[in-house]
Amino acid sequence: MLKDLLLQFFLSVLPVFAFLLWHDKDRSWEGFRPFIAITSGLAMLLCLLLSTPSVNDYEVDFRIVPFVIGSLYGGYRALAVLSILHVVLRAPTLSSVEEAVSFSLFLAFAVLLLTGFMGRFQRESPEGRERIGVTVISFQIIITISMMTVIMGMNGRPWTLTIVLDLLVAMAGLLLATWLSVYIIEGIKEKQQLHNKVDHLSLSYRNEVEKLQQFIDKAPIAVMIVDRDARITHVNEEGLRLFNLMPSYTSVDSLKNKPYAVVFLEGAGDMCFTILEQALKGRPTGTVPHMEDGKTFLYTAITLREVGSLRVTGAAIIAQDITELSVLRDELGRMERLSLVGQMAASITHEIRNPMAVIRGFVQLIQERSPQNQHEYFRVIMEELDRANMIINDFLSLAQNRDLKMEMGSLNSSIRDLEPLLLADANLRGQSLEVSLCEDLPPMRMNDREIKQMLLNIARNGMEAMEEKGILRIRTTYDNGEISITISDEGVGIPHDIMGSLFEPFFTTKTRGTGLGLPLCLSIAERHGGRIDVQSQEGQGTTFIVSFNILAQ
Ligand code: ADP
Ligand code: MG
Repeated sequence: MLKDLLLQFFLSVLPVFAFLLWHDKDRSWEGFRPFIAITSGLAMLLCLLLSTPSVNDYEVDFRIVPFVIGSLYGGYRALAVLSILHVVLRAPTLSSVEEAVSFSLFLAFAVLLLTGFMGRFQRESPEGRERIGVTVISFQIIITISMMTVIMGMNGRPWTLTIVLDLLVAMAGLLLATWLSVYIIEGIKEKQQLHNKVDHLSLSYRNEVEKLQQFIDKAPIAVMIVDRDARITHVNEEGLRLFNLMPSYTSVDSLKNKPYAVVFLEGAGDMCFTILEQALKGRPTGTVPHMEDGKTFLYTAITLREVGSLRVTGAAIIAQDITELSVLRDELGRMERLSLVGQMAASITHEIRNPMAVIRGFVQLIQERSPQNQHEYFRVIMEELDRANMIINDFLSLAQNRDLKMEMGSLNSSIRDLEPLLLADANLRGQSLEVSLCEDLPPMRMNDREIKQMLLNIARNGMEAMEEKGILRIRTTYDNGEISITISDEGVGIPHDIMGSLFEPFFTTKTRGTGLGLPLCLSIAERHGGRIDVQSQEGQGTTFIVSFNILAQ
C-alpha cells in the first residue's frame, strides 16, 4: 500500500518535474499554460493506469493533484479539458451506482471549487497560491471522506484503525504533493522574475555607462581618469591635446594602463602631475589656471571614492581651454562700457543740447548786432558750439541700442549715394577717390542710414590721415557668402602700439578729434552681424575691411 502511495505521489508531481526540465530562462513563460495542461493530463492518465492503492477497497489515486494544478495554472480551458479527461478515464471503472454518484459529486464539487478560486489564484502572491492549492485539495479530501463514510455506513462496514491510518497517510501525501507542485512552480517563477530584473538592470546600467563614456569622449573638455595605482584607465581625444601628450602618444588607447607619472611632459604636465598626486591622496586641489603660448587653460583634479566606504579608488583630471572665454569676457567688458557711454549720451543730450541751441541762437543774434571787427570771435564760438554738438550727436548714435529697422538693400547703392559727398570732400583736400564695386554683390539685410554713417566715418578718417594727392580707394567684394567693403588710404598709417585702442570710445590722436568715430563704426558693423579688420603700415597707409557674412545674417 505504501509503495503504491509513493508511486502515486511521484506521478502526481510529474507535471512539475517535467516543467523543471522543459523550462528555460530565455524562453520565459510562453507556452507554459498548454504545457502544464498537457503534462497534467498525462500524469492523470499515469496515476490511473499504474497501480492504484486502495484504502478499505476505496481506490485512492492522486489524479486530483495534477487535475487541480493543471487547472489552476492552465486556466478555464485546461479545467474543461482535464474535467472531460477525468470523466473519460473514470467512467469505464465505475462499478456501482453509488460509485457513479460519488464520482459525479466529487467532480462537480472540484469543478465548482476550481472555477471559484481560478481568478483569485491568478492574482495571488506565491504564498497565497500555495494556500489556495492546499485549500482546494483539503475540500476534496473532506468530500471524499464524507462520501466514504456514507458508503461504509450503507455497506455496514466499521471504521478500523488501519483504515484511519491509511487514510491519514494518503491525505498527507495529497496535501504534500499539491503544496510541493505550487511551491516549485512559484520558485521557478520567482527566479525567472529575478533573472529578468537582473537582466533589465544590467542592460540599463550598461546603457548608462555607455552614455557616460560617450559624453566623456565627445565633451569639449579634456578628461583623464587614473586608478589607485596611478595608472591611466581612461583619457579622451581632447585630453591628448590639452594635456600636451600629442607628440609622444598618438592615440588614447596607447595611454591606457600607463602610469600617469611617465606621460606628462614639462610645463603644464608638471602641474597636472602635482594636482593628480594631491587628488589621489584625497586632498582637494581647487582649479588651477595655466597660461601657455597665449592660451589660458584651467585644470581641476577630483578624487574618486568608493560609495559608502569613501575609500579613494582613483582620481580624475579635467582641463579646459578658456582662451576664447577670456576673449569673450574682454569683449563683453567693452560692450558694457559702450552701453554705459550710451546711457550717458542719452542724459547729456537732454541736459546740454537744448541750452546749447539757445546759446547758439543768442550768439548769432549778438553777432549780427555787433561791430564787424568782432565777428571773428563769434564765428569761433559758434564753430566750437557746433563741434560740441557733433560730439553729442556721435554719442547719441553710439547709444542707439534699440532695434534697428533692417531692410534688404545693396551696399553698392549706399556707396553710390555717398560718392558725390566723398568726392567733394576729397577735392577740397586735393585728394582723389577711386571706387570699384563688385557687379554681382548680393543684397543683404541692412539699415541704409547706419551703413552710410559707418562708411563716411571710415572714409573721412582715411582722408584725414592723408596728405594732398592721396588716393582713397573703396572696393566691394563678394566671396563665399561674405560681403566685404575695403577702404584703403595712403596716409600716415597706424602705429602698432595704438592698434588695440582704435575702437575704444574717446581714443583719438587728433587735436580736434572726438574718438567716437570708430567705436560707432564697430557698433554699427556688429549690429549688422559684421566685423571690422584693420591692416596698416606706418608711412604707407591703412586699410579697413568691413565684412558681413550674409549666410549667417
Ligand atoms: P577721431 O577720428 O575722432 O580721432 P576715430 O574713432 O574715428 O576718432 O579714430 C580714432 C583714431 O584712430 C584716430 O584718432 C586715428 O589716430 C586713428 N585712425 C583711424 N583711422 C585711421 C586711418 N585711416 N589712418 C590712420 N589713423 C587712423
Ligand atoms: Mg574719425
